Amino acid sequence: AVTVSYRMRVRSQRHHARSFLLEFQEACATPVARLRQVVDAMAVEMHAGLVSEGGSRLKMLPSYVDQLPEGDEKGLYYAVDLGGTNFRALRVQLGGKESRVIKQEYEEVAIPPELMIGTSEELFDFIAKELTSFVAREGDDFQPSAGQSRDIGFTFSFPVQQTALNSGTLLNWTKGFKVVDAIGQDVVAALQRCIQKRGPEMRITALVNDAVGALAGGRYWNEDVMIAVILGTGTNAAYVERAQAISKCGSTFPKSGEMVINMEWGNFWSSHLPRTPVDETLDNETMNPGEQGFEKMISGMYLGDVVRRVLLKMAQEAALFGPNVPRKMLEAFSLGTPDISKIHADESSDLKVVGNVLRDVYGIQNTSLAVRKIVYEVCDTVAERGARLAAAGIVGILKKIGRDGTHSKDVGSPVHPESGKTVVAMDGGLYERYSKFRAYMQAAAAELLGDASKDVVIELSKDGSGIGAALLAASIAKNRRK
Ligand code: BGC
Ligand code: MG
Repeated sequence: AVTVSYRMRVRSQRHHARSFLLEFQEACATPVARLRQVVDAMAVEMHAGLVSEGGSRLKMLPSYVDQLPEGDEKGLYYAVDLGGTNFRALRVQLGGKESRVIKQEYEEVAIPPELMIGTSEELFDFIAKELTSFVAREGDDFQPSAGQSRDIGFTFSFPVQQTALNSGTLLNWTKGFKVVDAIGQDVVAALQRCIQKRGPEMRITALVNDAVGALAGGRYWNEDVMIAVILGTGTNAAYVERAQAISKCGSTFPKSGEMVINMEWGNFWSSHLPRTPVDETLDNETMNPGEQGFEKMISGMYLGDVVRRVLLKMAQEAALFGPNVPRKMLEAFSLGTPDISKIHADESSDLKVVGNVLRDVYGIQNTSLAVRKIVYEVCDTVAERGARLAAAGIVGILKKIGRDGTHSKDVGSPVHPESGKTVVAMDGGLYERYSKFRAYMQAAAAELLGDASKDVVIELSKDGSGIGAALLAASIAKNRRK
């Protein structure tokens, strides 16, 4: 009798977990009608953010990049890239139209976690130190042109109010960084000071957000690139806008011509987003509650933690993993997006990989197939929602620039590429390494675009954001010489 009642209890608990899952899935649902509302909201917010400062949660920051690389840049350029998880220094020898990238080298290190919440001096000195030792290892096959100093493009993947191409103040941190005294500082000046102290003769000529860098990197190879999207630790998009449309800048920019806009779409918000109570608790427990709402549903830093929170609820309320809640499951970020990507890629009929991940990460032994299925489903739900929302964001941008096939009036689009194609350059580890996320995103974009999808190409521009800053530094040097 004991076994029977135990079995019944297990079954009813599993039933409870199932119904919890169904409820969660319903709350996360992104049918195409809902996505269309997100598309429209994105386009509307973009407009509002361009019209007035603070007009939208979308900051729509002018990048001061009004010319993108064209392929004929020449010489030796450096870039430093401070983003989410890793720090990179790179150098590239550019040979002009024919030979393009002659040689490229980079070094990457994980950012020590204590620096993410330390002082500005420590953080920028770390970058300067890494850069200095990287420069010291420059081989003979890298050569600055005669009389040329070593210019650096600085990829800084946080919201910055730029005042020129080579200066800007940090508005706020995202993605787990909280170096309080850096807020409001000119990040170029701060880094330049630290570089000077360490010795190498170099100057930072371009300060670029990674989304802007990805746009530059994509454009270098393909002139139809009009939009770039980062799906990595964080998420963001940049695109080419008509200078005339940036009315909040008054007469700062010439009215003809174009300007790259750093949207900071991670902070996009709309009541049409399918937000659940799990998202609310996650938000409350982050370092930046109330901010980056879109990012927290989409990007690599958070997807794993959304899944963890759902599983934790199921463990606590429906004993999904037996009578005890795995202790480590209480720990924020203990389940990473790489873990859920691994679970999600499990094609075996007994979901063996799912079981292995649960064992390796949480020490959960001998799960039943039914339990592993539930875990798989949770990952699928969270990733699918994120991917479809990202697609809606992209289509929102296409709509704003008149490339979504609806030919909406009053949005003239800048330079019409001959080919009639619009290319979206993608960069970031989430997009690169999470294949089901990528597939869901592509499918949703196609669904939303219908016929117009034949003219839109969404393609990986690997590491575009890092090299893009070096390319922008090169294109500035080129224009200086003109
Ligand atoms: C930052 C953006 C950045 C994005 C991707 C976000 O958290 O606010 O500036 O482009 O992450 O790295
Ligand atoms: Mg990056």
